[in-house]
Amino acid sequence: MSFIVKNTTLINPLDLIAPHSCRGCGSLGDPLCKCCKKYIINNHINICPNCKTKIKHNKCPNCKNLPPTYTIGFREGLLNKLIHDYKYQPTRALGKTFAHLLDSILPNINDAILVPLPTATNHIRSRGFDHTYLIAKHLARLRKYKVKKLLLRTKNTVQVGSDKKTRFLQAENAFTINHTIKSSHQSTYILFDDVWTTGASMKTAIKKLKEANIKNIVVVLLAVSRI
Ligand SMILES: [Zn+2]
Ligand SMILES: [Zn+2]
Repeated sequence: MSFIVKNTTLINPLDLIAPHSCRGCGSLGDPLCKCCKKYIINNHINICPNCKTKIKHNKCPNCKNLPPTYTIGFREGLLNKLIHDYKYQPTRALGKTFAHLLDSILPNINDAILVPLPTATNHIRSRGFDHTYLIAKHLARLRKYKVKKLLLRTKNTVQVGSDKKTRFLQAENAFTINHTIKSSHQSTYILFDDVWTTGASMKTAIKKLKEANIKNIVVVLLAVSRI
C-alpha cells in the first residue's frame, strides 16, 4: 500500500496515550525503535534515483551527469510509512530519526555544507515546520556540518499530483540562488531532499548550483520512488 494522499489526518491511537510509538513494531517510546532502525540500516541499498539501478558506491555508471548520490532506499514499506507520517501526520520528532538514519549510511564528507531543497511556504505553514530543513539541522549537528539556505523558492509551486512534464516545467523556475550567501569552492555542497519522484526539483537544484560555479556537489535523499 502506498501513501500518496495529501493532508491525511489519521492519528495513530497509540500516540494519544504515549508520546510516540514505533512506526515499525508499535513499541512505545520512540517513533522508530532501535531494532526497527537497525532493520532499515541493514536493509539499506544505494539506488540511482534516476535509472533505479542499485549502485555499489556513489556514482551511477548510467547517469554520468548525476553527482555522487546517497539514498536510504526505495520509498516503500517502513521507510515509506515514516516519510508519510513525517510529512502528512505530521510527526516533527521524526526529523531527528531521519537525521540519525542518514548519519548511519553516509560516508565521511569533509568540509560539507548542507543545502536543503526549499519547501513551499504553504506546506511549511500547514505542517508547522520546514521538514527538509529540520532534518538538515539535526544532521548538521550530528556531523558538524553547516546548513545554508543557498537555494530559495521563487514561488509556491505545488508538485503533489502534478504529472512529470508539468513538474519539470514548474521546477525549472522554482528555485533561485540566494546571492546573499557566499559560496566556497573548497567545500562540498550536499543537496538534500526527502523523496526523488520525477527528479525535477533535484535536477533543477543541481543545475542552479553548477550555474553558480559550484563543482563539488553530493546528493542525499531519504528515499527514491519506484515510479
Ligand atoms: Zn520498532
Ligand atoms: Zn542511474
